[in-house]
Parts: sequence; structure tokens; C-alpha cells
Amino acid sequence: MEPPLPVHVIGGGLAGSEAAWQLARRGVPVVLHEMRPVRATDAHKTGAMAELVCSNSFRSDDHETNAVGLLHQEMRRLDSLIIAAADRHRVPAGAALAVDRDGFADDVTQMMENEPLITIERGEVAGLPPEDWSSVIIATGPLTSPGLSQAVRALTGQDQLAFFDAIAPIVHKESIDFSKAWFQSRYDKPGPGGDGKDYINLAMTRDEYEAFVDALLAAEKHAFKDWEKDTPYFNGCLPIEVMAERGLKTLAFGPLKPIGLTNPHTPGLRPYAVVQLRQDNALGTLYNMVGFQTKMTYGEQVRVFRTIPGLENAEFARLGGIHRNTFINSPRLLDGALRLKAEPRLRFAGQITGCEGYVESAGIGLLAGRFAAAERLGQAPDAPPPTTSLGALLNHITGGAEADTFQPMNANFGLFPPLEEETRTGKPLKGRDRKMAMARRGKADLEAWLSDAKSRQAAE
Ligand SMILES: Cc1cc2nc3c(=O)[nH]c(=O)nc-3n(C[C@H](O)[C@H](O)[C@H](O)COP(=O)(O)OP(=O)(O)OC[C@H]3O[C@@H](n4cnc5c(N)ncnc54)[C@H](O)[C@@H]3O)c2cc1C
Repeated sequence: MEPPLPVHVIGGGLAGSEAAWQLARRGVPVVLHEMRPVRATDAHKTGAMAELVCSNSFRSDDHETNAVGLLHQEMRRLDSLIIAAADRHRVPAGAALAVDRDGFADDVTQMMENEPLITIERGEVAGLPPEDWSSVIIATGPLTSPGLSQAVRALTGQDQLAFFDAIAPIVHKESIDFSKAWFQSRYDKPGPGGDGKDYINLAMTRDEYEAFVDALLAAEKHAFKDWEKDTPYFNGCLPIEVMAERGLKTLAFGPLKPIGLTNPHTPGLRPYAVVQLRQDNALGTLYNMVGFQTKMTYGEQVRVFRTIPGLENAEFARLGGIHRNTFINSPRLLDGALRLKAEPRLRFAGQITGCEGYVESAGIGLLAGRFAAAERLGQAPDAPPPTTSLGALLNHITGGAEADTFQPMNANFGLFPPLEEETRTGKPLKGRDRKMAMARRGKADLEAWLSDAKSRQAAE
């Protein structure tokens, strides 16, 4: 039998390396195009595959109560190159999976170089891939070179590829105190698809508001890196603390304006300011603090945002940030197998799809590799169930997320469908019990999916 045609993978970072590995494991040849060291990025320092550009941590390895730990475990189960190399180069870091960064990247590089089905070509792909590359995975990451990112932008539309993220914090709805919060749209306007009660509102008295602004101004912040400052797009989306610097009342007359909102918990008392949270996923489990993009450190964000009445015990699915980044509007542009709807020979993987983080990028690379291999082998692409960490993340970026406000997302339990017993009884489980139940269900469903996949393949 003729060997399958090669799949071209652009980018040998976390996602591209994992995708190439998954393809090769299935007998599909790969040409991997990596521009380093011929052409550098602003953050990478070496020519190694899967170089970690900042922290050496893959975050929590606790697969019993943490969605990222569960993601590690799922990837181990699916023969992940990246997690296997991380396990081999683990350094002590408590409950986290942290690695010796050079040992890790050298290991991934060697594994790829020693794999006969992977050919590594060093050089930039500076525009859209040639027409005769019939299957391509674009995994060029947050620092995609300008030639390629401009070509993708021209193909997808100007508004569909961003050059920076402006991430507002996302709150788990179940952690909001509804003895203080209430649902209402401004002036009760239903808007398209709404019912006049689309937002969660959190009211502040004047004293609470002024203390909040003081806390924003005093909080510790990260500085922009020099190469980030030069990105003109930052000017369009100001951090909340920069707005607060413009005057004590700026926020009360801007994003926190109270007009058209009535607090049912304090009849007759007009709020001085109101924070509005907007639904962020189709499941309705996550709410976005729209306009609260910030350069405050994570610890400070938790401290300052928990001073907002109703958020005292808030749990954050994602904290805010603003970074140089490159990502497409995946919920609008990609199908469930990570293909560009407008040009299905092009698949995307990694951070450019709007997932966030080393592990998530590698996880989406793993799925892109499996999907592209299935296609080459004449099989149907098979996505893991949405109750797994991989499936929940895939589901979010390819449709579950709100496309109009789409921003990069980490793996977290807020992306998972409610537990069956919660739906049945109408009572959400809380805290650790809920996380453990989600993780248990994810593991069981992954095993069932793997054994179904085996029977399906045998039948094909
Ligand atoms: C400054 C910075 C710090 C970060 N810190 C962290 C952190 O501490 N923890 C964390 O979890 N995540 C962090 N991230 C996010 C992190 O980059 C990603 O999570 C992860 O590296 C993305 O994996 P990826 O494979 O999508 O992209 P990358 O790992 O960046 O890989 C993309 C590859 O594509 C190559 N490439 C780009 N354009 C082309 C082209 N046109 N032709 C050929 N090759 C090309 C690049 O050289 C690169 O090797 C950080 C990101 C940045 C920018």
C-alpha cells in the first residue's frame, strides 16, 4: 500500500511538536517547518523544539481535583510526547509538574529528530501554505511571524485575528453571592436572544466604590515588555487601572455606570456604581468581568476583585491580563476538528486557536495531530467527550465560547457540562467534592471513548 501523503506542520513549539508526534505514531509522514534558529521570535532563545519561553511549570499535576492535572493525565493516556518528556525531566515543585527546561526541550528535539516519519525543515513559512500542501497544521503560537499572521488575517477577515489579548477575569457563577448580586440587563432591554436579565450585577455604595478605585491604583502590576509596548493595538484596550488613573469618577461614568439598573436587595437605594458580568459560555457556568482587563498581578486581582460586593468568595476560572499574543476567533472560524471552515486543508493548533498555556497548547496540538492523521487514513476525526479536559477545551474554543468576546482560555472545570446528579437534583455540588466528581467522570468517559474508538476502528 502507498504511504499516506505527508501532513505539513508549521511551528515546532508545544503544539506543533505534539501534533507531529501523534501523526507519526499513526504512520502518517510529517514535514515540520520551524523557523528558529534561522529566524528568531522576541521571546525564544534557542533553536530547540518545544522551548518554554517563560516559566518552567506545567502547573498542577493533581488529576483528582484540578482540570489541568486531569489534562496531563488524559495526555499521558493518549501517548503525549510533551507530557512524557515533562515526566522524564521533572524537577521538585510540590503538586505542580515543573521541568528542567533545557533537558525537556532537548529531549523533545531528539525524539522528533530520531523519528523516521518526521522531517524537520528549518525556515519560515512567510505566507499562506502552497496549494499543493493538502493537509496543514498551523501551530505558530503567540509570536507567529508577521508574514504568516498577515496572510491568515487576510484570509479570515481583519477582525478575526488578534495581535494581543485583553483578558478580563472570568468568574465561576456558582461562587457568586446572589444575596447581593442580581440578574438584569440595563433598562431591562432584552436585546437579540436575551430576556432582559442577561447580566449579573454587583452594586457598590460610594464608599465601596472609592475604596475599590484606591485598591486598583495601589495594587502591584506587571510591566509591559519592551517588545510588547511597540504593538500599536494595545492602545485600543486600556487596563482598568489605567482608566481609574484618569480620575476618581471615570469608572463610575464608564464601565461601572449604574444607570438603568435597580438593585432588588436594597429597594429605594440607587447604587453609586455597578459591575456587570456577562455570560461567557453556552453552558452558563462562567461569567466575564467585561472591561476588567488588567496588568495587576494574579494575587492582587484576587484580593482587589473580592472587595466587590457579591464576589467576596469568588472563584476565578481565569484571571485578567494583557499580552502580546496572536490568536484567531476559533469559535467562529473553526469546525469541531480544528479545520478552517473557509479552507479545510488548513487546521490550527496551539495558542493561536485561543487556548492559553503550555499544556493546553500541547493538548490542542495532540487533537489536531489525531484529527489530521484520521483524515489521511480515511477515518472520521473522533473528538473526546466534552466531559474530559481535552474535550471541554476543544468544545469551548470551537463553539462553546461566546465568539463576540472570545479571548484565550485555560483548562478549568467551568468549561465542563454540569454533573448528571446536579441536573437531576437542581443542586450544584460544591468545592472539592464537585471537582473530584468532575475528574472521576472525565476519566471514566475518556476510557469509554478510547474503547469505543478501538471498536469503531476495527469496524472501519
Ligand atoms: C512571553 C510569553 C510568556 C509566556 N509564558 C507562559 C508561561 O509561563 N506558562 C504558560 O503555560 N504559557 C506561557 N505562555 C504562553 C505560551 O507561549 C504558550 O502557551 C505556548 O508556548 C504556546 O505553544 P504553541 O505551540 O502554540 O506556540 P510556541 O510554543 O510559541 O511555538 C510556535 C513555534 O512556531 C514557530 N513559528 C512562528 N511563526 C512561524 C512561521 N511563520 N514559520 C515557521 N515557524 C514559525 C516559532 O518559532 C515557535 O517555535 C507565554 C507566552 C509568551 C509569548
